[in-house]
Amino acid sequence: MPKTQSHLEAQLEALGFPFALPLEAPHYIDGAFVKSGTPFPIVYPATGEAIGQAYEGQAEEVDRAVQAAARAFRGWSRLAPSERRRYLRAFAAKVREYKPVFEVVESLDVGRPIRENRQGYVERMAHNLEFFADFAVTHGSEAYPMENGYWNVVQRFPVGVGALITPWNMPSMLATWKIGPTLAFGNTAVLKPAELTPLGAWLLARCAHEAGLPPGVFNVVQGFGPNSAGEYLTRHPEVRLISFTGETTTGKIILKNAADSLKRVSAELGGKAANIVFKSADLERAVAVTLRASFFNQGEVCLAGSRLLVERPIYQAFLEKLVAAVKALEPGDPLDEATTLGALIAEEHLQKVQGYIDWARAHAEVLTGGRQPELPPPFDRGYFLEPTVIAGVKPTDKVCQEEIFGPVVAVLPFDTEEEAIAIANGVPYGLNAVVQSRDVGQVLRVSSALEVGTVWVNDWFVRDLRVPFGGAKQSGLGREGGHYGYEFYYETKNVCIANV
Ligand code: NAD
Repeated sequence: MPKTQSHLEAQLEALGFPFALPLEAPHYIDGAFVKSGTPFPIVYPATGEAIGQAYEGQAEEVDRAVQAAARAFRGWSRLAPSERRRYLRAFAAKVREYKPVFEVVESLDVGRPIRENRQGYVERMAHNLEFFADFAVTHGSEAYPMENGYWNVVQRFPVGVGALITPWNMPSMLATWKIGPTLAFGNTAVLKPAELTPLGAWLLARCAHEAGLPPGVFNVVQGFGPNSAGEYLTRHPEVRLISFTGETTTGKIILKNAADSLKRVSAELGGKAANIVFKSADLERAVAVTLRASFFNQGEVCLAGSRLLVERPIYQAFLEKLVAAVKALEPGDPLDEATTLGALIAEEHLQKVQGYIDWARAHAEVLTGGRQPELPPPFDRGYFLEPTVIAGVKPTDKVCQEEIFGPVVAVLPFDTEEEAIAIANGVPYGLNAVVQSRDVGQVLRVSSALEVGTVWVNDWFVRDLRVPFGGAKQSGLGREGGHYGYEFYYETKNVCIANV
């Protein structure tokens, strides 16, 4: 008897998705797709159903991928940057060709609404590859002539094999953010995506393959973290650099594991951003910015403005507008263009986020949201949570200190600039902050006093790849972006030449 088409299969067909369920996410090693290791399910967060399987890479797969990358490094590192750019441009062109497929895959992997994927997400992926390819071509070295006639020439050269370890919240975008500079600056790469989101990495491997990248230059090993592909990569003696994005606790473990073989580590870690709204802000705009900062990607963003600080004279008016806008968000089917809030990544994560809401019900006030929305089948089995606003909290409460990583924002009133700065800085994290104000002096004073890697003024998550990106305090180590990534992705050598 022919199998009846599921709701998802019908949707995928309507969207022109070229692959049939169940999907497969193999490794990509030395230019070949490899299915080895123990299979594990790929779960669609919006319905809780398994839509395919990936394969857990162990020490063997990691070693094969690293050896392939090390072999490929010999040729790749010697190419002129302009030759590497040709490959990376072809890679980016493939990403653009697969744009509608990536838009669906990101929703399947993450549960994010497809409308958010259609707002420049895939273009940013392609740009990540092209930008660094161009950058490597157009930026040279420095020279320091000495008074005695000697010349110092500062040279940069590739480091070796890079392990790129990414989280599940923006998998394909963050992968390309690392692949771009790694390959453009002459290194080779082994990407280990999060176990919850293996599909984007598989599709990226397809793009690299079809773009004709030489075998071994870019590899993917699927799998988990501890005692699995992630840990083996960080301990492998031939891996020279690790670009990691993920939780602060994981970053610390990776740093320890990498220390034995003295690998360089760049770590982009957790955040607990303050979004500070001053009374001089354009309120309509501030509400729109806050809505994105708190609920884009279900709030599963390291940069999320999860603490909302509002100056007391506008506190009530602002909250009324915000709560109305939050109530208008439509959780549901991520593949429906009308949906404005997707599903959380997994059951376990949903429970963790609900734990914070339970705390708020007992100790503070839940202004809106906090429950699982009632959705029709098959989405009644998905990991959805209403967008939630919590008030009546103190800056030291756990909802204001810990990264919740969900559609939950905690609101705090403040009276003075000094108080807002103290609250904003009063957390262990220091990734970013948002300042909303039309008073230029205030913007300068406040942004200068914030202990973070990025301050967005009157907006959120606007990226220019020339500028440094990274976190202060417990939010990271090092900066990537533009020439700030040189220290990490390049080795540096000084050649001191006698004038004889
Ligand atoms: P995570 O730390 O649990 O996992 C991230 C990656 O590390 C995954 O691929 C995982 O398999 C791997 N991993 C886990 N343990 C490992 C180990 N011992 N050795 C090697 N690899 C290991 O993070 P997550 O839950 O996937 O992602 C959410 C976190 O990522 C949040 O804390 C968020 O703030 C952070 N994040 C930060 C940024 C940034 O730019 N600063 C961006 C996005 C997400």
